[in-house]
Amino acid sequence: VEALGQFGFRIDLPPWVEEFLGRAPEVFPTDEERIRLAISLARQNVEQQTGGPFGAAVFDEHGRLVAPGVNVVVTSNCSILHAEMVAIALAQQKLGRYDIGNQGRSRYALAASTEPCAMCFGAIPWSGVTRLVCGARDEDARRIGFDEGPKLPGWQEALQTRGIRVTRDVLREEAVAVLDLYADLGGQIYNPGRQG
Ligand SMILES: [Zn+2]
Repeated sequence: VEALGQFGFRIDLPPWVEEFLGRAPEVFPTDEERIRLAISLARQNVEQQTGGPFGAAVFDEHGRLVAPGVNVVVTSNCSILHAEMVAIALAQQKLGRYDIGNQGRSRYALAASTEPCAMCFGAIPWSGVTRLVCGARDEDARRIGFDEGPKLPGWQEALQTRGIRVTRDVLREEAVAVLDLYADLGGQIYNPGRQG
């Protein structure tokens, strides 16, 4: 264990993200605009072959982008780097606090191109975001072979009980099209204990 220090951890977004965001609007006032960005990130991630077909982003209450996320599980050798986890972690680093909402003083939204898996569902209340906006449904991800994990059947209510409003099915068809593109291209389906 004395050598573990050399495995210090950082999250690297794929190189295309910066240029991609340079062409994006300054603000994303509506749910549709926020999800459209998450879906575009997912689509780029597939087309650039930098990860799975999932994108996410954290926005402040004015709709300004705080941090993007894409799935980089395979390229980073890290099972926790789902798009939502990347967006949450980068937002926290950018804001300089582990609680994005700053103990309820600020309102932030997480947009996800597909509904969260069990891990990301679990991470959302700890992140401090107060809204979750989703495109594709978890069953859409399962249909192409992804495992969403042991998620509570009433997961939306569980989040709403904790003060996190959930909006589903925003541009669902556009989000599903990215999942289908990934499947059509023969993208890797990485799942718990079933790699290879
Ligand atoms: Zn996840």
